[in-house]
Order: sequence, then C-alpha cells, then structure tokens
Amino acid sequence: MAKGRIIIAEDKCKGCGLCIHHCPVDILALDTSRTNKKGYTPLYVTDPEKCIACSMCALVCPDSVITVERFKKS
Ligand code: SF4
Ligand code: SF4
Repeated sequence: MAKGRIIIAEDKCKGCGLCIHHCPVDILALDTSRTNKKGYTPLYVTDPEKCIACSMCALVCPDSVITVERFKKS
C-alpha cells in the first residue's frame, strides 16, 4: 500500500529524468505521449500504490517540481 503520494507541478518539469533514476521503487517515468507548456515530456507516476514517500525524487529535482505528501498511519 502507498505510504504517500507525490504531486507533480507538471508545467515546471523539464523532463531531465533525474528523479526517475533516484526513485528506489522505480515508479517514475516520462510521459512520451504528450508535452507540457514548456514543450517537454512531463513526469508521471507509473504505479502510485508503490510510493514509499521517501522524498528522494523531490530532493533531486533541480526545479522543485515535486511535492511529497506522506499519508498518516492508521
Ligand atoms: S517519494 Fe520516493 S518512492 Fe515515491 S515517487 Fe518519489 S522517489 Fe519514488
Ligand atoms: S527531476 Fe524534476 S525536472 Fe527532472 S524529470 Fe524529474 S520532475 Fe522533471
């Protein structure tokens, strides 16, 4: 079950792929089927259920595109 989720400010993404390489559960990819306002292929989450809310993606993103929301334990 997902421990959190990421919120992607899609139009700020420049499609550099840094976050993709740092995600430990490998659930990030670029959506090659479309482009954002800047003309780049934007980031998306392939399998949100696997997110462990580690924040690695947000830390490495040079453009502060990603915000991590950690779910409260129930
Ligand atoms: S918070 Fe961690 S697990 Fe979730 S998408 Fe980012 S790097 Fe991957
Ligand atoms: S590191 Fe940031 S700019 Fe680069 S692909 Fe990921 S979200 Fe987009």
